[in-house]
Amino acid sequence: MGICDSCHSGCCRSFAVPISGADIHHFTHRQNLNFWDFACRWEDTEGLISRNLAPHFLFEDDPETPFVICLKHIPSSSFPGTTKCRFLMECLPDDEHPKGLGRCGIYQNRPQTCRCFPAKLNASNELAILYDIPSNGRDGEPAYDLCSRQWTASDLDPNDTIQSLVIARYEMTFFSKIAMIWNQAPGAWNQFPDFIDRIYSNRIASETQEDTSADTVGVSDNSESHKRAA
Ligand code: SF4
Ligand code: SF4
Repeated sequence: MGICDSCHSGCCRSFAVPISGADIHHFTHRQNLNFWDFACRWEDTEGLISRNLAPHFLFEDDPETPFVICLKHIPSSSFPGTTKCRFLMECLPDDEHPKGLGRCGIYQNRPQTCRCFPAKLNASNELAILYDIPSNGRDGEPAYDLCSRQWTASDLDPNDTIQSLVIARYEMTFFSKIAMIWNQAPGAWNQFPDFIDRIYSNRIASETQEDTSADTVGVSDNSESHKRAA
């Protein structure tokens, strides 16, 4: 039995979960979800959400505030007055599970950030390092209680974990370059989904069009489009 199997999913309640443009494109094009149904922008003036990995985006209605694009939170039914990831399914409590059980409603399609938790890459990008998980993710409210014990290496598949971490790092690095373009002339929040869609829909080029410069692969043309839209 895995460590998460008997948990109410305090992690999916406690944390703002950063998503990349690739996650957004997957949800909108493969899962047919509407951007506004799963995404939000989360203020991150102290960098506690980005953790030097997820990029900060600026928007014209609040140009001084850095935002991280995250999974949307909605009110919890099991813990009134608290919030949870909009994809978290809550099961009623019973004697064995007094806080109820939590299940990810999109487990096979969950974002890379969720696939990696609670690991991160070390400085040389070769090893997975487990986070030291606190007992509670926010303010002591029981809904935000976290893992019943610390994770160990044997809790995770070493190959899947490294693969997820490498993909997550790659996608967030690319997303950071997109953020640099967007932030040159921040547009309105309601323009953001179309901007992301243009970038990620043009990510594959034929060999004759290929340009390995990260500043130009499917980016510069869309930058111009963004500037026009803004
Ligand atoms: S997408 Fe799934 S795993 Fe990720 S925070 Fe939401 S419910 Fe949890
Ligand atoms: S809080 Fe810890 S044990 Fe519970 S679902 Fe999240 S990662 Fe698993």
